[in-house]
Amino acid sequence: MQPQSVYIHIPFCTNKCYYCDFNSFVTNNPQLVWDYLEALKKEMERTFSCQPPGPVKTVFVGGGTPTFLDRAQMRMFLETVQNCLGAYWTDDLEFTMEANPGTTDVEKLRVMRELGVNRLSFGVQSFDNALLKRLGRIHDTDDVYRSIDNAREVGFENITIDLMFGLPDQTMEIFRDTLEKAFALGTTHFSAYSLKVEENTLFHTLYQKDQLPLPSEETELAMYMLLIEEMEKRGYLQYEISNFAKKGFESKHNKTYWLNNEYYGLGAGAHGYVNGERHVNAGPLAVYMQMSKEGLPRVEQFAVPREDAMEEQMILGLRLTEGVELERFAQRFGVSVHDIFGKIIEEEVAKGMLEERDGFLRLTKRGLPLGNEVFARFLR
Ligand code: SF4
Repeated sequence: MQPQSVYIHIPFCTNKCYYCDFNSFVTNNPQLVWDYLEALKKEMERTFSCQPPGPVKTVFVGGGTPTFLDRAQMRMFLETVQNCLGAYWTDDLEFTMEANPGTTDVEKLRVMRELGVNRLSFGVQSFDNALLKRLGRIHDTDDVYRSIDNAREVGFENITIDLMFGLPDQTMEIFRDTLEKAFALGTTHFSAYSLKVEENTLFHTLYQKDQLPLPSEETELAMYMLLIEEMEKRGYLQYEISNFAKKGFESKHNKTYWLNNEYYGLGAGAHGYVNGERHVNAGPLAVYMQMSKEGLPRVEQFAVPREDAMEEQMILGLRLTEGVELERFAQRFGVSVHDIFGKIIEEEVAKGMLEERDGFLRLTKRGLPLGNEVFARFLR
């Protein structure tokens, strides 16, 4: 079956957050952005003429900061997406764009809405202004309120917010306060991730110099448990380790990844999974743009071995609270989960980390915060 999901990467940001290792670049050169959009257009046209999609159910524009584009750039970009993909869109298409507070004026949001975007993902991270500064974010809490008001004014109802915990000098009280303020916005979906200190970031340098006062592991775990408890109280269903939604507002696009389904990946540094092959695009802008002139800008492309695909199906699927559907696994691979991973499952069930119910294998409540340890067991 052809992929039904599309990821598109816009790699520009107003500045670099101190913890960020994403493929994102700071620029004040509008021509560079236009050149990138032209290269992206070429990649889209080539990709979809070589490998036409199935009915497209989800499009996700991530970054970087897609709303870094100015109004004219946004229009050109979204018209390109429509020209390449519009004929394949399904009626219930979920079209998400990541947005940073402070980069979304009403007019730009109108262009986005008019050209198909129907879900916004705001990188809020915290409602503590001092902490936002500490992270190197460009926005403060006023920007968040203004951005959400603008989005609603334009007609966006499906809005998700990203939050972070386990941040330097973040206390339980600060995190609790952030949650209260986030709930007050009444959005349909939340993602909440703990900080990972990644190499080649300012935070990594500080960490190595012992100048990054992170909360203890116990506090971080307590924050995660508070998050789960408060989400449940407010009627947000935890459907994945880090994701919570009002009923019917789960991210269809991200579920593509967790179900280990195929998807197109377009743009600098993007990854894709099409016809049983994964590929990685060139990350540096100059390389990506040069390669796009000549062909597809891929620096790596390989068929996924069957054993790897089975491991991925388990590790990704166990992130969902519903777990891995056993019948689906058997249909895809022609063997049962138990034939391949029987011993591991038996041991993890005995430890109280996994449970099997109604045709699904899933993490238990106890296993949920320790998911990474369980996932590691499924790797050869
Ligand atoms: S806005 Fe996002 S992509 Fe850009 S630097 Fe910050 S964390 Fe990275």
